[in-house]
Amino acid sequence: MRVVITGAAGFLGSHLSDRFLAEGSEVVGVDNLITGNADNLAHLERETRFTFVRQDVSRALTVDGKVDGVLHFASPASPIDYLEHPIATLDVGSLGTRNALELARSHGARFFMASTSEVYGDPLEHPQRETYWGNVNPIGPRSVYDEAKRFSEALTMAYHRELGLDTRIVRIFNTYGPRMRPRDGRVVSNFIVQALAGEPLTIYGDGSQSRSFCYVSDEVDGIYRLFIQGDAEPTNVGNPDEFTVRQLADLILELTGSKSTIVSMALPTDDPKVRRPDITKAREKLGWSPQVPLREGLKRTIDWFRERERALEKR
Ligand code: UDP
Repeated sequence: MRVVITGAAGFLGSHLSDRFLAEGSEVVGVDNLITGNADNLAHLERETRFTFVRQDVSRALTVDGKVDGVLHFASPASPIDYLEHPIATLDVGSLGTRNALELARSHGARFFMASTSEVYGDPLEHPQRETYWGNVNPIGPRSVYDEAKRFSEALTMAYHRELGLDTRIVRIFNTYGPRMRPRDGRVVSNFIVQALAGEPLTIYGDGSQSRSFCYVSDEVDGIYRLFIQGDAEPTNVGNPDEFTVRQLADLILELTGSKSTIVSMALPTDDPKVRRPDITKAREKLGWSPQVPLREGLKRTIDWFRERERALEKR
């Protein structure tokens, strides 16, 4: 197979590129590097089956030669990133999705849309099943991401229904692991970086809001299975073990042995109060369920951040 992965220099895109390469595929990675990081692909420099194209997929996306799959992972994905790039976020979810769908259509390729649990907004149904329509503020600061992804899903379904394109939609829940940007603002990377630096851990609000954290190798495995054997309807892929932000902070303090304190900061607007996937569909249709518990995944992620710091000090 030869697949195109947009957002290949991002956290998930780079791990997904590795997975396709490990399965024997050729990968064309596309990224404009606004939030992606070329370092995430440095290990592929000599990999002849990997090609990198620096391009803004919201403007254009053309790839020569055979294409069997187009996986659209390009988008700012952390709240602070999409608040900093609101228009680019809307563009990549609308124009970018359109360009990626057209690329798939022109090559007769399968299309795979990286959607998100954010389509459920601040959910009134808990845990969230794929049948839930969501509770999204259409004009709030998060809407640039939530609505762009909801539009992406609608456009993907339209290409499927009207043009018969072979499509997939994954709804990705909070994912963590090596290659997260240290200051990308997400809770796992923030807390680990703060704990290792002896800085206070910044809990937004009272820390009673919950998330369900999936280790990146599990997430990528679910995504790969969905690409190969899934159907066109959206599928949740995430870890259903739910933790409050406060519990996460305590666990990271324990695992790092850090003496950091905890400070409370303002809760961002429209921050979802709870989030947990119902993964019945992924279990039944893909034979997939997460294998790495939070404690184990956090240990690996903490080790990676420690290594990274050591490598930077040596430079
Ligand atoms: N959060 C926090 N402290 C931080 C970063 C995030 O308490 O330094 C909270 C945030 O308000 C949210 C949860 O942690 O309730 C997850 O935030 P993240 O940005 O990782 O992902 P989200 O699920 O909001 O997209």
